[in-house]
Amino acid sequence: MSETFYGPDFNLLSKQDPEIAAVLLSELKRQQNNLQLIASENFTSRAVLAALGSTLSNKYAEGYPGKRYYGGCEEVDKAETIAIDRAKDLFGAEHANVQPHSGASANIAVYQAFTKPGDTVLAMSLPHGGHLTHGSKVNFSGKWFNIVSYGVRQDNELIDYDELRELAIANKPKMICSGATAYPSLIDFEKVRAICDEVGAIMWVDAAHFIGLVAGKAIPSPVPYADVVSFTTHKVLRGPRGGMILSKAEHAAAIDKAVFPGMQGGPIMSAVAGKAIALAECATPAYQKYAKDVIINAQALAAALEGEGMRAVSGGTQTHLALIDIRSTGVNGKVADERCGAAGIVLNKNSIPYDPEAPSVTSGIRVGTPATTTQGMGVEEMKTIASLIARAIKTDDAAAHAAIKSEVHALTSRFPIYQA
Ligand SMILES: *Cc1c(COP(=O)(O)O)cnc(C)c1O
Repeated sequence: MSETFYGPDFNLLSKQDPEIAAVLLSELKRQQNNLQLIASENFTSRAVLAALGSTLSNKYAEGYPGKRYYGGCEEVDKAETIAIDRAKDLFGAEHANVQPHSGASANIAVYQAFTKPGDTVLAMSLPHGGHLTHGSKVNFSGKWFNIVSYGVRQDNELIDYDELRELAIANKPKMICSGATAYPSLIDFEKVRAICDEVGAIMWVDAAHFIGLVAGKAIPSPVPYADVVSFTTHKVLRGPRGGMILSKAEHAAAIDKAVFPGMQGGPIMSAVAGKAIALAECATPAYQKYAKDVIINAQALAAALEGEGMRAVSGGTQTHLALIDIRSTGVNGKVADERCGAAGIVLNKNSIPYDPEAPSVTSGIRVGTPATTTQGMGVEEMKTIASLIARAIKTDDAAAHAAIKSEVHALTSRFPIYQA
Protein backbone atom coordinates (compact mmCIF):
# COMPACT_ATOMS: atom_id res chain seq x y z
CA MET A 1 0.00 0.00 0.00
CA SER A 2 2.82 2.42 0.86
CA GLU A 3 4.45 1.84 -2.54
CA THR A 4 1.36 2.94 -4.44
CA PHE A 5 1.13 6.19 -2.45
CA TYR A 6 4.16 7.53 -4.32
CA GLY A 7 2.67 6.68 -7.73
CA PRO A 8 4.32 5.64 -10.99
CA ASP A 9 7.49 7.71 -10.48
CA PHE A 10 8.25 5.60 -7.46
CA ASN A 11 8.46 2.49 -9.64
CA LEU A 12 11.06 4.25 -11.78
CA LEU A 13 13.01 5.26 -8.70
CA SER A 14 12.85 1.72 -7.29
CA LYS A 15 14.45 0.39 -10.45
CA GLN A 16 17.05 3.13 -10.78
CA ASP A 17 18.02 3.50 -7.13
CA PRO A 18 16.57 0.81 -4.88
CA GLU A 19 18.72 1.96 -1.97
CA ILE A 20 17.13 5.43 -1.79
CA ALA A 21 13.68 4.11 -2.78
CA ALA A 22 13.85 1.89 0.28
CA VAL A 23 14.54 4.92 2.49
CA LEU A 24 11.51 6.78 1.10
CA LEU A 25 9.37 3.77 1.74
CA SER A 26 10.56 3.06 5.27
CA GLU A 27 10.29 6.75 6.22
CA LEU A 28 6.68 6.76 5.01
CA LYS A 29 6.02 3.70 7.18
CA ARG A 30 7.82 5.30 10.13
CA GLN A 31 5.55 8.34 9.84
CA GLN A 32 2.47 6.14 9.52
CA ASN A 33 3.21 3.69 12.30
CA ASN A 34 4.59 5.88 15.10
CA LEU A 35 3.08 8.73 17.10
CA GLN A 36 4.54 11.98 15.83
CA LEU A 37 4.63 14.43 18.74
CA ILE A 38 7.55 16.63 17.65
CA ALA A 39 6.03 20.10 18.03
CA SER A 40 7.70 21.44 14.87
CA GLU A 41 6.53 18.65 12.56
CA ASN A 42 3.36 18.07 10.59
CA PHE A 43 1.98 16.08 7.66
CA THR A 44 1.78 18.33 4.63
CA SER A 45 -0.93 17.76 2.03
CA ARG A 46 -0.47 15.63 -1.06
CA ALA A 47 -0.99 18.78 -3.12
CA VAL A 48 2.06 20.36 -1.46
CA LEU A 49 4.07 17.17 -1.97
CA ALA A 50 3.09 17.24 -5.65
CA ALA A 51 4.52 20.76 -6.03
CA LEU A 52 7.73 19.75 -4.24
CA GLY A 53 8.24 16.85 -6.64
CA SER A 54 7.58 18.99 -9.73
CA THR A 55 9.70 20.39 -12.56
CA LEU A 56 9.70 23.80 -10.85
CA SER A 57 12.71 22.37 -9.03
CA ASN A 58 14.68 22.70 -12.28
CA LYS A 59 14.23 26.42 -12.70
CA TYR A 60 16.71 29.11 -11.71
CA ALA A 61 14.98 32.36 -10.81
CA GLU A 62 17.43 34.68 -9.07
CA GLY A 63 15.69 37.98 -8.44
CA TYR A 64 11.99 38.71 -8.00
CA PRO A 65 8.93 38.34 -10.27
CA GLY A 66 9.39 40.59 -13.30
CA LYS A 67 13.00 41.38 -12.26
CA ARG A 68 14.92 38.13 -12.81
CA TYR A 69 18.51 37.51 -13.77
CA TYR A 70 17.58 34.51 -15.94
CA GLY A 71 15.27 33.96 -18.90
CA GLY A 72 12.33 31.59 -18.91
CA CYS A 73 10.91 32.73 -15.59
CA GLU A 74 7.41 33.55 -16.85
CA GLU A 75 5.80 30.46 -15.31
CA VAL A 76 7.62 30.51 -11.96
CA ASP A 77 6.90 34.25 -11.75
CA LYS A 78 3.22 33.35 -11.60
CA ALA A 79 3.79 30.92 -8.74
CA GLU A 80 5.80 33.43 -6.72
CA THR A 81 3.32 36.26 -7.31
CA ILE A 82 0.44 34.02 -6.21
CA ALA A 83 2.38 33.01 -3.08
CA ILE A 84 3.15 36.65 -2.20
CA ASP A 85 -0.47 37.77 -2.73
CA ARG A 86 -1.84 34.87 -0.69
CA ALA A 87 0.61 35.58 2.16
CA LYS A 88 -0.34 39.28 2.24
CA ASP A 89 -4.06 38.43 2.16
CA LEU A 90 -3.93 35.68 4.77
CA PHE A 91 -1.93 37.70 7.30
CA GLY A 92 -3.03 41.22 6.37
CA ALA A 93 0.63 42.06 5.74
CA GLU A 94 1.95 44.99 3.72
CA HIS A 95 4.87 43.02 2.29
CA ALA A 96 5.82 39.35 1.93
CA ASN A 97 9.03 37.65 0.84
CA VAL A 98 8.45 33.96 0.15
CA GLN A 99 11.98 33.00 -0.88
CA PRO A 100 13.88 32.06 2.32
CA HIS A 101 14.94 28.42 2.18
CA SER A 102 14.23 27.89 5.88
CA GLY A 103 13.41 29.60 9.15
CA ALA A 104 17.09 30.09 9.94
CA SER A 105 17.66 31.63 6.48
CA ALA A 106 14.75 34.01 7.02
CA ASN A 107 16.33 35.07 10.31
CA ILE A 108 19.72 35.71 8.70
CA ALA A 109 17.91 38.04 6.31
CA VAL A 110 16.18 39.85 9.17
CA TYR A 111 19.50 40.48 10.96
CA GLN A 112 20.97 41.68 7.68
CA ALA A 113 18.08 44.01 6.89
CA PHE A 114 18.13 45.81 10.23
CA THR A 115 21.53 45.41 11.88
CA LYS A 116 25.28 45.36 11.34
CA PRO A 117 27.69 42.89 12.93
CA GLY A 118 28.41 43.97 16.49
CA ASP A 119 24.99 45.56 17.01
CA THR A 120 22.98 44.75 20.11
CA VAL A 121 19.91 42.55 19.75
CA LEU A 122 17.60 41.51 22.58
CA ALA A 123 16.23 37.97 22.22
CA MET A 124 14.78 35.12 24.25
CA SER A 125 17.35 33.09 26.15
CA LEU A 126 17.94 29.63 24.66
CA PRO A 127 17.57 27.70 27.93
CA HIS A 128 14.20 29.44 28.32
CA GLY A 129 12.96 28.45 24.88
CA GLY A 130 14.73 30.72 22.39
CA HIS A 131 16.02 29.42 19.04
CA LEU A 132 19.67 28.90 17.99
CA THR A 133 19.35 31.96 15.73
CA HIS A 134 18.45 34.06 18.79
CA GLY A 135 22.06 34.26 19.92
CA SER A 136 23.51 30.82 20.51
CA LYS A 137 27.30 30.97 20.84
CA VAL A 138 27.64 28.27 18.16
CA ASN A 139 25.36 30.14 15.72
CA PHE A 140 26.14 33.17 13.49
CA SER A 141 23.80 35.21 15.67
CA GLY A 142 25.85 34.68 18.81
CA LYS A 143 29.15 35.08 16.98
CA TRP A 144 28.39 38.22 14.98
CA PHE A 145 26.04 40.15 17.26
CA ASN A 146 25.98 41.38 20.81
CA ILE A 147 23.00 39.36 21.98
CA VAL A 148 21.39 40.25 25.28
CA SER A 149 18.98 37.55 26.48
CA TYR A 150 15.76 37.84 28.43
CA GLY A 151 13.95 34.92 29.96
CA VAL A 152 10.92 33.75 31.87
CA ARG A 153 10.15 34.36 35.53
CA GLN A 154 10.98 31.49 37.83
CA ASP A 155 7.62 31.64 39.66
CA ASN A 156 5.20 31.51 36.70
CA GLU A 157 7.53 30.53 33.82
CA LEU A 158 6.11 33.33 31.68
CA ILE A 159 8.09 36.03 29.85
CA ASP A 160 9.18 38.68 32.31
CA TYR A 161 8.17 41.87 30.48
CA ASP A 162 9.54 44.03 33.29
CA GLU A 163 12.95 42.43 32.86
CA LEU A 164 12.60 42.75 29.08
CA ARG A 165 11.90 46.50 29.42
CA GLU A 166 14.76 47.05 31.87
CA LEU A 167 17.19 45.20 29.60
CA ALA A 168 15.96 47.22 26.63
CA ILE A 169 16.44 50.54 28.45
CA ALA A 170 19.88 49.49 29.75
CA ASN A 171 21.21 48.05 26.45
CA LYS A 172 19.48 50.14 23.76
CA PRO A 173 19.16 47.25 21.28
CA LYS A 174 18.75 47.89 17.55
CA MET A 175 16.19 45.10 17.45
CA ILE A 176 14.09 43.09 19.89
CA CYS A 177 13.13 39.55 18.95
CA SER A 178 10.10 37.78 20.38
CA GLY A 179 9.30 34.20 19.56
CA ALA A 180 10.70 30.87 20.67
CA THR A 181 10.88 27.17 19.95
CA ALA A 182 9.71 25.96 23.32
CA TYR A 183 7.37 28.52 24.88
CA PRO A 184 3.84 27.19 25.49
CA SER A 185 2.18 30.54 26.20
CA LEU A 186 1.08 33.48 24.09
CA ILE A 187 3.31 36.52 23.70
CA ASP A 188 1.95 39.98 24.54
CA PHE A 189 2.84 41.74 21.28
CA GLU A 190 1.28 45.00 22.42
CA LYS A 191 3.66 45.12 25.40
CA VAL A 192 6.65 44.28 23.23
CA ARG A 193 5.66 47.01 20.74
CA ALA A 194 5.50 49.57 23.55
CA ILE A 195 8.99 48.58 24.74
CA CYS A 196 10.36 48.79 21.18
CA ASP A 197 8.83 52.24 20.77
CA GLU A 198 10.24 53.38 24.11
CA VAL A 199 13.83 52.48 23.13
CA GLY A 200 13.57 52.95 19.35
CA ALA A 201 14.15 49.29 18.49
CA ILE A 202 12.92 47.31 15.50
CA MET A 203 10.23 44.84 16.59
CA TRP A 204 11.03 41.42 15.11
CA VAL A 205 8.76 38.47 15.80
CA ASP A 206 10.13 35.03 14.98
CA ALA A 207 6.80 33.27 14.61
CA ALA A 208 8.25 30.02 13.25
CA HIS A 209 6.39 27.84 15.69
CA PHE A 210 3.02 29.48 16.06
CA ILE A 211 2.37 31.24 12.73
CA GLY A 212 0.08 28.37 11.68
CA LEU A 213 -2.15 29.12 14.66
CA VAL A 214 -2.23 32.77 13.56
CA ALA A 215 -3.05 31.69 10.00
CA GLY A 216 -5.95 29.65 11.37
CA LYS A 217 -7.14 32.61 13.47
CA ALA A 218 -6.75 30.57 16.65
CA ILE A 219 -4.40 33.02 18.42
CA PRO A 220 -3.68 36.77 18.06
CA SER A 221 -1.46 37.91 15.19
CA PRO A 222 1.86 39.73 15.63
CA VAL A 223 1.54 41.25 12.14
CA PRO A 224 -0.25 44.50 13.13
CA TYR A 225 2.41 45.21 15.77
CA ALA A 226 5.73 44.02 14.36
CA ASP A 227 8.07 45.71 11.91
CA VAL A 228 9.00 42.26 10.65
CA VAL A 229 7.73 38.71 11.19
CA SER A 230 9.81 35.74 10.10
CA PHE A 231 8.65 32.13 10.16
CA THR A 232 8.88 28.62 8.82
CA THR A 233 6.23 27.19 6.54
CA HIS A 234 6.47 23.56 7.65
CA LYS A 235 5.44 23.58 11.31
CA VAL A 236 1.80 24.11 12.34
CA LEU A 237 1.34 25.96 9.01
CA ARG A 238 1.64 22.53 7.34
CA GLY A 239 3.35 23.66 4.14
CA PRO A 240 6.64 22.67 2.51
CA ARG A 241 9.96 23.05 4.31
CA GLY A 242 10.87 26.70 3.98
CA GLY A 243 10.80 30.19 5.39
CA MET A 244 8.94 33.43 4.82
CA ILE A 245 9.14 37.05 5.95
CA LEU A 246 6.31 39.57 6.36
CA SER A 247 7.01 43.24 6.98
CA LYS A 248 5.68 46.75 6.94
CA ALA A 249 5.88 48.37 3.47
CA GLU A 250 8.63 50.74 4.64
CA HIS A 251 10.95 47.76 5.19
CA ALA A 252 10.07 45.93 1.96
CA ALA A 253 13.16 46.95 -0.01
CA ALA A 254 15.52 46.19 2.88
CA ILE A 255 14.00 42.73 3.38
CA ASP A 256 14.05 41.83 -0.30
CA LYS A 257 17.66 42.97 -0.69
CA ALA A 258 18.69 41.04 2.41
CA VAL A 259 17.17 37.80 1.07
CA PHE A 260 18.52 38.25 -2.48
CA PRO A 261 21.29 39.06 -3.19
CA GLY A 262 22.18 39.47 0.49
CA MET A 263 21.85 35.92 1.69
CA GLN A 264 20.63 33.51 -0.99
CA GLY A 265 21.04 32.79 -4.68
CA GLY A 266 18.06 31.41 -6.54
CA PRO A 267 14.85 30.57 -4.69
CA ILE A 268 13.64 26.95 -4.57
CA MET A 269 10.65 27.46 -6.88
CA SER A 270 9.09 24.06 -6.17
CA ALA A 271 8.97 25.07 -2.50
CA VAL A 272 7.63 28.53 -3.38
CA ALA A 273 4.75 26.86 -5.26
CA GLY A 274 4.22 24.57 -2.27
CA LYS A 275 4.05 27.64 0.00
CA ALA A 276 1.34 29.13 -2.25
CA ILE A 277 -0.68 25.92 -2.00
CA ALA A 278 -0.32 25.75 1.79
CA LEU A 279 -1.35 29.41 2.19
CA ALA A 280 -4.56 28.73 0.23
CA GLU A 281 -5.23 25.70 2.42
CA CYS A 282 -4.74 27.86 5.52
CA ALA A 283 -7.46 30.27 4.36
CA THR A 284 -10.16 27.57 4.54
CA PRO A 285 -12.67 27.01 7.37
CA ALA A 286 -11.33 23.45 7.64
CA TYR A 287 -7.86 24.75 8.48
CA GLN A 288 -9.27 27.25 10.96
CA LYS A 289 -11.00 24.40 12.74
CA TYR A 290 -7.75 22.43 12.58
CA ALA A 291 -5.79 25.26 14.23
CA LYS A 292 -8.29 25.46 17.09
CA ASP A 293 -8.25 21.68 17.50
CA VAL A 294 -4.44 21.68 17.66
CA ILE A 295 -4.65 23.90 20.75
CA ILE A 296 -7.54 21.95 22.31
CA ASN A 297 -5.53 18.75 21.84
CA ALA A 298 -2.33 20.27 23.27
CA GLN A 299 -4.27 21.42 26.32
CA ALA A 300 -5.84 17.97 26.71
CA LEU A 301 -2.46 16.26 26.34
CA ALA A 302 -0.82 18.57 28.90
CA ALA A 303 -3.68 18.05 31.36
CA ALA A 304 -3.58 14.28 30.92
CA LEU A 305 0.20 14.22 31.46
CA GLU A 306 -0.38 16.24 34.65
CA GLY A 307 -2.91 13.56 35.58
CA GLU A 308 -0.04 11.07 35.22
CA GLY A 309 1.91 13.02 37.86
CA MET A 310 4.07 15.17 35.60
CA ARG A 311 4.11 18.98 35.58
CA ALA A 312 3.25 21.21 32.63
CA VAL A 313 5.61 24.20 32.55
CA SER A 314 3.73 27.49 33.07
CA GLY A 315 0.70 25.50 34.16
CA GLY A 316 -0.33 24.26 30.71
CA THR A 317 -0.41 25.62 27.20
CA GLN A 318 -2.17 28.19 25.03
CA THR A 319 -0.57 26.90 21.84
CA HIS A 320 0.28 23.70 19.98
CA LEU A 321 2.98 22.52 22.35
CA ALA A 322 3.52 21.72 25.98
CA LEU A 323 6.74 21.58 27.91
CA ILE A 324 6.60 18.86 30.54
CA ASP A 325 8.78 18.78 33.65
CA ILE A 326 9.24 15.03 34.21
CA ARG A 327 11.43 15.12 37.32
CA SER A 328 8.65 13.47 39.36
CA THR A 329 9.20 10.28 37.34
CA GLY A 330 12.86 10.08 38.40
CA VAL A 331 13.79 9.87 34.70
CA ASN A 332 15.61 12.63 32.82
CA GLY A 333 14.63 14.03 29.41
CA LYS A 334 17.28 12.11 27.50
CA VAL A 335 16.22 8.75 28.88
CA ALA A 336 12.52 9.59 28.49
CA ASP A 337 13.10 10.50 24.84
CA GLU A 338 14.87 7.16 24.27
CA ARG A 339 12.23 5.13 26.09
CA CYS A 340 9.37 6.79 24.22
CA GLY A 341 11.22 6.20 20.96
CA ALA A 342 11.49 2.50 21.77
CA ALA A 343 7.71 2.53 22.29
CA GLY A 344 6.96 4.19 18.94
CA ILE A 345 6.33 7.64 20.43
CA VAL A 346 8.45 10.30 18.75
CA LEU A 347 9.06 13.41 20.89
CA ASN A 348 12.08 15.35 22.08
CA LYS A 349 13.88 15.98 25.31
CA ASN A 350 13.80 19.66 26.20
CA SER A 351 15.28 21.92 28.84
CA ILE A 352 12.75 23.42 31.20
CA PRO A 353 13.27 26.97 32.54
CA TYR A 354 15.99 26.98 35.23
CA ASP A 355 16.79 23.36 34.35
CA PRO A 356 19.36 21.84 36.73
CA GLU A 357 20.36 19.33 34.02
CA ALA A 358 22.63 19.98 31.02
CA PRO A 359 20.97 20.70 27.63
CA SER A 360 22.12 17.25 26.44
CA VAL A 361 20.24 15.61 29.34
CA THR A 362 17.41 17.96 30.42
CA SER A 363 14.56 17.56 32.91
CA GLY A 364 11.80 17.78 30.39
CA ILE A 365 10.12 16.69 27.22
CA ARG A 366 8.36 18.80 24.61
CA VAL A 367 5.18 17.46 23.03
CA GLY A 368 3.21 19.01 20.20
CA THR A 369 -0.09 18.21 18.52
CA PRO A 370 0.17 19.55 14.92
CA ALA A 371 0.76 16.12 13.35
CA THR A 372 -1.66 14.00 15.39
CA THR A 373 -4.37 16.64 14.88
CA THR A 374 -3.81 16.53 11.11
CA GLN A 375 -4.39 12.77 11.42
CA GLY A 376 -7.77 13.52 12.96
CA MET A 377 -7.01 12.58 16.55
CA GLY A 378 -8.93 14.36 19.29
CA VAL A 379 -9.15 14.75 23.05
CA GLU A 380 -9.86 11.05 23.72
CA GLU A 381 -6.74 10.04 21.80
CA MET A 382 -4.69 12.65 23.70
CA LYS A 383 -5.67 10.95 26.96
CA THR A 384 -4.56 7.60 25.53
CA ILE A 385 -1.29 9.12 24.31
CA ALA A 386 -0.57 10.62 27.75
CA SER A 387 -0.97 7.24 29.38
CA LEU A 388 1.23 5.57 26.73
CA ILE A 389 3.92 8.24 27.32
CA ALA A 390 3.76 7.78 31.09
CA ARG A 391 4.04 4.00 30.79
CA ALA A 392 6.93 4.26 28.32
CA ILE A 393 8.87 6.71 30.50
CA LYS A 394 8.44 4.70 33.70
CA THR A 395 9.86 1.40 32.44
CA ASP A 396 13.20 0.34 31.01
CA ASP A 397 11.88 -3.08 30.03
CA ALA A 398 12.20 -3.77 26.29
CA ALA A 399 9.21 -6.14 26.27
CA ALA A 400 7.04 -3.45 27.90
CA HIS A 401 8.16 -0.95 25.26
CA ALA A 402 7.34 -3.45 22.51
CA ALA A 403 3.86 -3.91 24.00
CA ILE A 404 3.29 -0.14 24.09
CA LYS A 405 4.53 0.07 20.51
CA SER A 406 1.85 -2.33 19.37
CA GLU A 407 -0.77 -0.19 21.13
CA VAL A 408 0.68 2.85 19.36
CA HIS A 409 0.38 1.03 16.07
CA ALA A 410 -3.23 0.09 16.82
CA LEU A 411 -3.94 3.79 17.48
CA THR A 412 -2.16 5.20 14.42
CA SER A 413 -3.84 2.58 12.21
CA ARG A 414 -7.18 4.15 13.11
CA PHE A 415 -5.92 7.53 11.83
CA PRO A 416 -4.13 6.64 8.60
CA ILE A 417 -2.05 9.18 6.68
CA TYR A 418 -0.89 9.13 3.05
CA GLN A 419 -2.95 6.15 1.98
CA ALA A 420 -2.75 5.27 -1.70
C1 LIG B 1 12.15 26.13 13.74
C2 LIG B 1 12.58 27.49 14.10
C3 LIG B 1 13.51 28.19 13.32
C4 LIG B 1 14.32 27.57 12.22
O1 LIG B 1 13.70 26.99 11.19
P1 LIG B 1 14.53 26.03 10.21
O2 LIG B 1 13.61 25.89 9.05
O3 LIG B 1 14.80 24.77 10.96
O4 LIG B 1 15.79 26.73 9.84
C5 LIG B 1 13.77 29.52 13.65
N1 LIG B 1 13.18 30.10 14.71
C6 LIG B 1 12.32 29.44 15.49
C7 LIG B 1 11.70 30.16 16.64
C8 LIG B 1 12.00 28.12 15.23
O5 LIG B 1 11.18 27.48 16.04
